[in-house]
Amino acid sequence: MLTTSAVKAVSVITTGDGEVHHEHIYGTRRPELWWIFFGRRWVRLPINVYVIDHEDALVLFDTGQDRAVVTDPDYYPDRITAFFYRHIFRDIRIGPEDTLPAQLGRMGYSASQVDKAVISHLHGDHVGGIADIPQAELYAGEEGFAYMRGPDHPERQTVFRDRIEIPGARWHMIPFASTDDPELAPFTEAFDLMGDGSMIVLPTPGHLPGSVSMLVRRDTAPPVLLVGDLTYDEQLLERDHVGAVGDAVQLRHTYAKVRALKQHTPDLVILPAHDPHAAKKLGST
Ligand SMILES: [Zn+2]
Repeated sequence: MLTTSAVKAVSVITTGDGEVHHEHIYGTRRPELWWIFFGRRWVRLPINVYVIDHEDALVLFDTGQDRAVVTDPDYYPDRITAFFYRHIFRDIRIGPEDTLPAQLGRMGYSASQVDKAVISHLHGDHVGGIADIPQAELYAGEEGFAYMRGPDHPERQTVFRDRIEIPGARWHMIPFASTDDPELAPFTEAFDLMGDGSMIVLPTPGHLPGSVSMLVRRDTAPPVLLVGDLTYDEQLLERDHVGAVGDAVQLRHTYAKVRALKQHTPDLVILPAHDPHAAKKLGST
């Protein structure tokens, strides 16, 4: 695989954590409303942000969850949505030390240094930090915007437009272009974020319309595929085990493509947004 010395470091920071239903991660044959309200097994997961220190830019993959979800009683757009979300996520813990600026500061960076952020998808725990990086160019999949602006789920919203289309946010729809790069096969569309092959955004639909992943190529360590919420655990993807959120058919289609990519890139490190072992997998502490 092509390597580049442009990427100086890839690290993970965590903007707090919270509990989700076991079914959310591991899937279930039961209907969604059953596990949301009657599921009794919970799993605590971190809300990660990946930080890529490139020689020409400081880049984030996702921006985490902002504290408003725990401090603002009016965080959710309406009462029905709030009611559902309080049954989907439990015991969210985001302290003042867990905000995106605080976490970047601990790593020796400043939020004002962030040049670009690629957003895996538009759920609140991935776009939460965008208000902290108003100078940054923000990139997300076009279908995500179409979903956000179209008629939403009849009972509740899953994408909170007021927290995404905030004044001054520098959103760009990811301009995918066709590629026949054999290193990216079987993906046939890609967006080269820096123009040097170091960070390649790939369409990986299934969790939410417009979901994307980003391949980061380093010369001193194996390549990394940041997959957002495509899966919660690399093993699940390898076993073709889809969770209960998203379009199962699309997820399986994308899982097969990612496994095929990994087949010709055996050292590829697959990192979900909520991977508790991300720091270890990146070789940092
Ligand atoms: Zn999500």
